[in-house]
Amino acid sequence: MNLTIKDTFNTELPADHLKENTRRQVMQACFSFVTPKSTSKPGIVHASKELARDLGLTENDLKSEEFKNIFTGNSILPDTNPYAMCYGGHQFGNWAGQLGDGRAINLFEVNHNNKQWALQLKGAGETPYSRTADGLAVLRSSIREYLCSEAMYHLGVPTTRALSLALTGDQVLRDVLYNGNPEYEKGAVVCRVAPTFLRFGNFEIFSARQDKKTLKTLSDYTIRHFFPHLKEGTKEGYLDFFREVTNSTLDMIIHWQRVGFVHGVMNTDNMSILGLTIDYGPYGWLEGYEEGWTPNTTDRQYKRYRYGNQINIGLWNLYQLANALFPLIEDAKPLEAILKEYLENYATKYLSMMKSKIGLFKPDGNDPELLARLESNLQLTETDMTIFFRNLSHIAKDSPTNDNFLAPVWDAFYVQEEVKGHILEKWKLWFTDYKSRLQKESISDGERAEKMNKVNPKYVLRNYMAQLAIDGADKGDHTLINEFFQLLKHPYQEQSTAEKWFAKRPEWARHKVGCSMLSCSS
Ligand code: AMP
Ligand code: MG
Repeated sequence: MNLTIKDTFNTELPADHLKENTRRQVMQACFSFVTPKSTSKPGIVHASKELARDLGLTENDLKSEEFKNIFTGNSILPDTNPYAMCYGGHQFGNWAGQLGDGRAINLFEVNHNNKQWALQLKGAGETPYSRTADGLAVLRSSIREYLCSEAMYHLGVPTTRALSLALTGDQVLRDVLYNGNPEYEKGAVVCRVAPTFLRFGNFEIFSARQDKKTLKTLSDYTIRHFFPHLKEGTKEGYLDFFREVTNSTLDMIIHWQRVGFVHGVMNTDNMSILGLTIDYGPYGWLEGYEEGWTPNTTDRQYKRYRYGNQINIGLWNLYQLANALFPLIEDAKPLEAILKEYLENYATKYLSMMKSKIGLFKPDGNDPELLARLESNLQLTETDMTIFFRNLSHIAKDSPTNDNFLAPVWDAFYVQEEVKGHILEKWKLWFTDYKSRLQKESISDGERAEKMNKVNPKYVLRNYMAQLAIDGADKGDHTLINEFFQLLKHPYQEQSTAEKWFAKRPEWARHKVGCSMLSCSS
């Protein structure tokens, strides 16, 4: 392997002076040096050739013993110093104090084609931040992270990436439903990759501890490396930095809304400073379009992180980041102005994203109402989001709204017998208005369909699909991991051999653990 190592985080920022791997509060430091745990029988299950290329790795590298050993934590590349990051966070609305990389260990940073990448192992053993947990990850959650982060990348959603998925050969004890029934599962390690893994919580921790010095050092480092066009060391630089984080966070969440992704645990320790989707835990994909849906059973009661609340939570989290950066800016007004812009920009960006999903591009004052009615209709009966929007492109603007008017989107309805009476009337009215609105656009049906198919994916990692891949892998069969990895590289393309994955969720998966119900256990 011929990687160009260029470490910045662990060379430019203050380190924890203690070297022992004991759990503790780490003060005035951005990270602690730590060595990944050796595993009994490491084996690579899958590796991303596309990402490998971006890092300067060859296909042969991926098959080497060296690759296997390094990316399972069983050996360390010479002259590199792995470390775990210190951060805090607001969890479910409450300040939780120090969290940190409890089971993520950063290996090194790579520079390739003028791009900087941080590589980290998730599930490689305990760190000073492991609190009461074991620092490990199970195969089930590692498959979910590996497949989904690459799928999101190919959907055009900003995200951390995944280089490899490996088995450790060790067993890990987990109580999936937190009901006193722990069982052993296969242990796994994912190598994930991003320009940086910095989160809102990395800034919050220093502010909470009134450690302005380290807060400033970290903020200057972040601006220098990831926002180099901004001025470090000045109040306006910190404000511009906050504005950029605000904008990229909003853009990311709008992408989530576009594809029907529900993150599930939008705590501030899971919010990337680069606006990347990070920490794939109990996330899920909307099957039936439902604003109140969350896959996370831990959040069952208040549904704080439900699909329809993600934009609000983004704002709430940005308030926490604003508070964290306040000591460097000492003026609340411009911070509040940026937060206000978030809501204004949201209205504009959300409208234009939703319009693109239904193939409308010209300005028209009635579009917000047309879209609001669509969102309400979609929830009258269970309606598959992916199928509905994808097949909406089959509507011809000149077609009559006769008895058959729903035929192009009929497959999207889960309980077709319910689509009658006043529900059918509402749809009829909507399609009549939609078609007359389409008349005002100057493009043909074909051109519109082409544009719509670039924003409405045909294939997403449906919740039950991930579970099928997991069930196979538990028995040692990795066929579906390979199949889904390939399929989801081209989510907007018709793939004639994959029609069966463009279908409603099967009934058996409706209430199955791992499909519609996810716990944080991972
Ligand atoms: P999450 O809810 O997965 O974002 O995790 C919240 C915090 O718990 C982070 O600090 C994680 O590093 C930590 N954590 C989660 N699972 C484990 C584990 N198995 N061992 C150690 N720390 C963990
Ligand atoms: Mg996390």
